[in-house]
Amino acid sequence: MSALLEVRELTASYGSSQALFGVDLSVGAGEVVALMGRNGMGKTTTVRCICRMMTSSRGAITFAGKSLNDLPSHKAARLGIGLVPEGRRCFAPLSVEENLVCAARPGAWTLEAVGALFPRLSERRSQAARTLSGGEQQMLAIARALMINPKLLILDEATEGLAPVIRQEIWRAIGELKQSGLAILIIDKSLKDLKALCDRFVILERGKSEWTGGAGALSEEICDRYLGV
Ligand code: ATP
Repeated sequence: MSALLEVRELTASYGSSQALFGVDLSVGAGEVVALMGRNGMGKTTTVRCICRMMTSSRGAITFAGKSLNDLPSHKAARLGIGLVPEGRRCFAPLSVEENLVCAARPGAWTLEAVGALFPRLSERRSQAARTLSGGEQQMLAIARALMINPKLLILDEATEGLAPVIRQEIWRAIGELKQSGLAILIIDKSLKDLKALCDRFVILERGKSEWTGGAGALSEEICDRYLGV
């Protein structure tokens, strides 16, 4: 059976500056895959290409059997790719509920369901997004991506810069999403949390996939060589 997401020989540039030199990765249905690599190795650029926010890319990106290569980003989202972008970007003047409702597509993820996943959001339903704490905004960004009822959720640094207690709450929620059978592609710096969660790891080095394997195969030597930890 083919994977839900397949990326093959992906290259991409910012103007004349090439950032990706051959990224290969796949995410199967229900699989949780970590995309790793040191700063500037191309993780966010890979995500931008998958979500069709960068159209300069070459190579093959297929999702649920369909080529994404020529699709605009809103159509990629409609096929079932939910993105939680780096920097959490919510609509600041809109309320929590408005942020969620404007993303909604039919499916199991409703206002009530995301409220059960993140009770703090239910409590702040009518508050403007800009009045939320950083952690609550991150929860809102995850909830909003879920409201499109994605087949694949992509999380780019979803725990970055948050207090430990909030980070724990977000890891708990991501664990629940995995249990529900959602496929996830995740970028994060916490190796410990990723090892506890992920089925497979893909490591980028200078814009290229250099290593892939399961948590058990992610040895100290590999971490030292590619991640500097
Ligand atoms: P980080 O962990 O720091 O977010 P990353 O692995 O996500 O890093 P990218 O942000 O994808 O890496 O960056 C890959 C390369 O592309 C880097 O050399 C970076 O400087 C460059 N780059 C990223 N965004 C842009 C941009 N908007 N314009 C020009 N170059 C960019």
